[in-house]
Order: sequence, then C-alpha cells, then structure tokens
Amino acid sequence: MSRIPERIHLAAPHMTGMEQFFIKEAFDTNWIAPLGPNVDGFENEVAEYVGVNHALALNSGTAAIHLALRVLDVGPGDVVFCPSLTFVASANPILYQGAEPVFIDSEPETWNMSPLALETALEDAVMVGRLPKAVIVVNLYGQSAKIEEIMELCAQYGVPVIEDAAESLGSSYKGRPSGSFGHFGIFSFNGNKIITTSGGGMLVSDDAEAMAYARHLSTQAKDPAPYYQHSEMGYNYRMSNIVAGIGRAQMKVLDKRVRQKRRIFKRYEHSLMDVPELFFQPEAKDSLHNRWLSTLLIDETCGLKPLDLVDALALENIEARPVWKPLHLQPLFEDCNYYPHTQAESISASLFEQGVCLPSGTAMTEKDQDRVIHAVRAYVGGAVEKKQAT
Ligand SMILES: *Cc1c(COP(=O)(O)O)cnc(C)c1O
Repeated sequence: MSRIPERIHLAAPHMTGMEQFFIKEAFDTNWIAPLGPNVDGFENEVAEYVGVNHALALNSGTAAIHLALRVLDVGPGDVVFCPSLTFVASANPILYQGAEPVFIDSEPETWNMSPLALETALEDAVMVGRLPKAVIVVNLYGQSAKIEEIMELCAQYGVPVIEDAAESLGSSYKGRPSGSFGHFGIFSFNGNKIITTSGGGMLVSDDAEAMAYARHLSTQAKDPAPYYQHSEMGYNYRMSNIVAGIGRAQMKVLDKRVRQKRRIFKRYEHSLMDVPELFFQPEAKDSLHNRWLSTLLIDETCGLKPLDLVDALALENIEARPVWKPLHLQPLFEDCNYYPHTQAESISASLFEQGVCLPSGTAMTEKDQDRVIHAVRAYVGGAVEKKQAT
C-alpha cells in the first residue's frame, strides 16, 4: 500500500504571522467591537493601495456588491448587466434587489466581459427604452477586463460601472490598480482570495456622498437621532475590528503574494509548455495579472474534458477545479437574457468546456507544485496516447 500523499489545496489561506499582533492589540484594548482602529486602518490602507478616496470594510464581497446596487437605486423592474463567466456572488445581489440580470459573454483575450457583446446589449436596451441601471464588470482570476473600452461604452450611455475586483486585488491595468476604474470597486477577503481576513469585503469609490450613504446602510441605517430611529431599511454588513486586524497584516504582504502567485504561474507554464494539448490563460496586453488562480485550457480536439483532469488530480489528493460554470447556463438564471460575443461564438461556454484551475496557493512548496505538474503531465500525456491508440 502506498501512503496517500498530503492534500494540495486550490488556494489555502496563507498567514504572515503578523496577524496576531493586530489581533492582540484589539484584545489588549478590549476593542473587540464595534468597529475600531483596525477597521479604520484597514480601510485607509486599502484605499491608499488602490488609489481611491473612500473605502468601507464589510463582512463580505457580496455585501459590497449589494450595497453598490442599493446606493445606485437598483430595484424591481430594473436591469443590471453582468458577465456570464463569473462566480454566482457577482449576480446574486441583483436578485436581492429584485432586479433582472442580463448576462454578457466573455471575449477570448482576457476571458472577461466582451465589449462587443456589451455594445450590442446596450444598443438593444436603448431600442426598448430600458437601459441597465448598472453594469457589473469582473476581473476573472485576477485578469483585468478590457476596462477602458467598457468604461467608455458605459459612459456613452450614462450607465455606472461596478468593478467586481474580488479576484484581482494587486492587479493593474496600464499601471492603475484594479478596482479603481468603476464608479464603485469591490474586493473580497474570503478564505481562498489572494489575501484573506477569514471572510470579509470592501467597497471603494471616489464618490464621497455615495460612500457616506453606503456606510449608513451598512449599519442598519440609523438616523442621526438621540434614540434608535430608522427611516429606511438597512443591513448589518460591517467588518469587525478583529477581522480587520487580520487584513492589516495581510495588506503588508499583498505585493509579495502577487509576485509569488506570478512565480507559481510561470513555473506551471514553463514546465508544461511542451504539452501541446494545454494552453494557459494569457496575460492581456497593458495589464499586470495577479495570477490569483493559474488557469489553463485543454484543447477540445484531444477529447479530454476539464472534469477528467480534475478527477485524475483528485486521485492524487490534489484539488483542481473547472472554471466557473457560466451564469446563463445555471438553473437559477435560466429565464435571463444572454448576449454572446458574436452570433456564432459563445466564449464563456467554450471556456467552461475546456478550462481548469490548478492549485495556486502561495504557501504551496515547489515540491508540491512539482507533484501537480507531474500529475498533470502524466494524466494528459497518458490519456491522449490512449485516445490515439483507439
Ligand atoms: C469571491 C468573489 C465574490 C464574493 O466575495 P465574498 O467575500 O465571498 O462574498 C464576488 N465576486 C467574485 C468574482 C468572487 O470571486
């Protein structure tokens, strides 16, 4: 019997050791709640890093998207555009607001929202007199969308943009930090993200008034009165002072994590370069990709499916995942409208048919990564050979 090798996770939390300092300080001063200096510090540090005027620390990235939609007054009868190829958290808040998502396909260069499909959708929206109340753009796996083109299009139609940068903290486009382009940007500090607070999120914007309103809504929308008075519905969405302490330590290593993630990607790419069936997610022109997850495509013509590779790696106790299943293909959204990249091509569907995310945790050792590389090579090579023999 061979020993089961140790589990290699997709993207395990990677602590620095400094987290305890900020947590201890919070305990020592009994600043467990509410809010507190770690929350203020974390907000300031993220705002400064991203280059925006205001940041609001929240208990999830999903809450940040929800608040952005609420502040933009999205409600029943409204339409919000959202990429199809993303995590469901990008779109769920549209449903929270009783609005209707319309899904936009990806383009092949960045895998993100297709400006071509977006333009068609906007033209159609004008025709029926129902422009979207907001457009959510996602920077998938850390790669910036074609954000300039998208911002320009949306400005042309006067539609505000929410940049879902949950996966792209530390990335940039033409040197400008990811998350700073939209009217609102959102980040996530969920356990598997490039930095984590164990769970949390952030809303950022230069719009002081909108951010003050979001702050108000995030703490049960309490009126400025000497007693508890409320004029509208609010939420309990704030981040705790303990959790923010973890974030402050993690921010100190963000740039280092980006370098580590990029190194992991380069090693995969270099080591598997000679496997003709595999293609890695390219780094788009003008952008710095944080390589949150190293992602590749398996050439459709070789007959192997993403789940074949995911299952084969699972047998070696290695956690890999297929790329996000497009939202327009989800039972939850089966009645929603979808705009493909072109009449002939649905890019998100084809990326889903071929895409796999490999383990990309920054705490992974080179030896661990070699195990992954070896397993991928052995499986893909063997399976293709078998297919050719039959
Ligand atoms: C993780 C993620 C979110 C949600 O963040 P949470 O903090 O888990 O709520 C939203 N959008 C994308 C693209 C994500 O990857």
